[in-house]
Amino acid sequence: MMADRRRGRVGGLLAGALLLFAACDDAHRDELPPLTAHRSVTSKRTVITPPASNTPRAYALPYRTQRGSVYYGSDTLRALGDLATTIDRVDERLSNWATGRSPETDLPASFVYLCRDIETLLAIERHHDFKSVYGHADSASTPDRTFEPRGGYYQQLGVIALLDQPGVDVPWNIAHETSHAALARWTSFVPDVLNEGLAEIVTAWVLYSNAEMPSDDLPLDLNVVNTCRSATRRDRRAFRLAWLFGLDYWQFRDDRSDDLNFSLATSLCHFLLSDGHPSVAGRFPALIQRLGADRSPWFAFQRTYPVGLVERRWRDHLDRWNDLPWRVGFGRRWIQHGSHLSARRPARGSTALIWQGDLQPPSRVEFSLAQLPTASTVAFLTSYRSPRHFTVLGARRRGRELIRVDYREGSWDTPALWQLPDHLDPTGVWRLERSPATGEMSWSIDGETVWSAPGSAVDPGRWGLYFESRQASDRTGTSSVTFENVTVE
Ligand SMILES: [Zn+2]
Repeated sequence: MMADRRRGRVGGLLAGALLLFAACDDAHRDELPPLTAHRSVTSKRTVITPPASNTPRAYALPYRTQRGSVYYGSDTLRALGDLATTIDRVDERLSNWATGRSPETDLPASFVYLCRDIETLLAIERHHDFKSVYGHADSASTPDRTFEPRGGYYQQLGVIALLDQPGVDVPWNIAHETSHAALARWTSFVPDVLNEGLAEIVTAWVLYSNAEMPSDDLPLDLNVVNTCRSATRRDRRAFRLAWLFGLDYWQFRDDRSDDLNFSLATSLCHFLLSDGHPSVAGRFPALIQRLGADRSPWFAFQRTYPVGLVERRWRDHLDRWNDLPWRVGFGRRWIQHGSHLSARRPARGSTALIWQGDLQPPSRVEFSLAQLPTASTVAFLTSYRSPRHFTVLGARRRGRELIRVDYREGSWDTPALWQLPDHLDPTGVWRLERSPATGEMSWSIDGETVWSAPGSAVDPGRWGLYFESRQASDRTGTSSVTFENVTVE
């Protein structure tokens, strides 16, 4: 039976039964070498080994809330701390918006595991008797997989198990899986296109916006914009709702789709939540209610939204994304919320956002910084030609050390370093200006010039924003920075 699951009716039914044991992996594929060498951090690990007994409580620590017990286990250094707050915030805000009620208070016990490798994660699956629900000992032994096992939310087991490795954005993934768990309590079956899309939207909303409704001030994941942009150029047939709704569990996650289906799903939910048309606006909570009552999700969707109109307006929505002035140059993840642009990195790595408004760089880019993450470089990017050819102009080490350095053909030149004058606050207003007459370029902080160069010394090419994290800067293991009130002229 399992061998047939990618074809025909059996496939659809099993896809439902297998609902969600995958996380949206945040692995980052094109790492740059670090800008400067960093000290590696080593500490003692607490190893969780699933015991022979059938009591997960023996190795998972209880975290009690008013709403039920969450048992938490980790064999990485990460403490529950802020992750628990994230789980509560997702439940609270999603519940208030989607159901109009506070979250349930009598939830059955659930389990959250962070695992440093896939072997531990598979052991967790076996320990929670994965086989009794899914028919195989663990997800690695499930035949005909279309993607590597990576954990996620296991609805029937009441378990969230995730990898906690370099390059994995654990707070993001925890919020994402919590959204799945909440929807599973209110619905009978949610197709991936809605479930995965909404989980991404809810995560960005809870992490980046204080708006009560996700539709007000909806943050936009610019990496999703990137993916959808190239997809619209390749093939517009992917933007048929019936086709997206018809994808089964394995088709939706197929590695060969390169996350396109996740991005399409996110863009669809972004559209459904932000569009102002009276046949679209404000209807998502009603759709969620219908997904709990109607037998067919496609029928529930058609009862909620006029499909033809949604398809037309969704494509227009994506066409407007083509006109956005920013695109992700490399790395992830960039969030646009209002006039703010936030970069987040799980632990080490770099990411760049490129201004693509004109062929020529703009004459001025300005933003303010409320805080500088500790072990990071926050910078303008100039003379950007490719991910292998650009210049970084910014600050590192709490902003006291200013840096200008070229990246050419995969390696860094020797950086020019100088100190920020004592009276200047690095968390002020940063401005990069180019004189239209002479091409001279200057960088100022709070109106005081900290660097300048004649036009002849400046490589044209695009401008952008750059963030490099050398270690996690907060207790959730993520490093992030927000470029506030970004203006470009
Ligand atoms: Zn998911």
